Amino acid sequence: MQQTLSIIKPDAVAKGVIGKILDRFETNGLRIAATKKVQLSRQDAEAFYAVHANRPFFNDLVDFMISGPVVISVLEGENAVLKNRELMGATNPKEAEAGTIRADFAENIDANAVHGSDSVENAAIEIAFFFSGREIS
Ligand code: GDP
Repeated sequence: MQQTLSIIKPDAVAKGVIGKILDRFETNGLRIAATKKVQLSRQDAEAFYAVHANRPFFNDLVDFMISGPVVISVLEGENAVLKNRELMGATNPKEAEAGTIRADFAENIDANAVHGSDSVENAAIEIAFFFSGREIS
């Protein structure tokens, strides 16, 4: 069993597709071990995306992530990290395969509907960033 962190980003929350996206996870064998709707602070978003701090899109990314509430979940299942990345589709929705979350719900590379951990190691770090042990079951 693996765990991974998912964020439904402000664009998808504003569109009212939280339920549709969570359904994709559950329908594809990813159990929701924890979930919460949160308004991130600038400090939260900058810390979460610290790895991208030197990238030209960093400020746009942080501004976008705090532009409205997000839904943060811990997903659990076999190969959860990779499975979630497959369900999400490519970072740029224009390159995302048909039937993926980003192909179906995302507008562009800034507003791309979802975040998902990219490795087991980062999943553990990202889960610990947002959740305490007692919130996960
Ligand atoms: P992800 O793991 O597929 O979300 O992609 P990354 O970890 O590489 O990037 C984090 C987020 O930064 C992406 O989801 C995009 O929202 C944004 N991003 C990544 N690359 C670019 C880029 O080249 N331009 C812009 N504007 N945003 C980007």
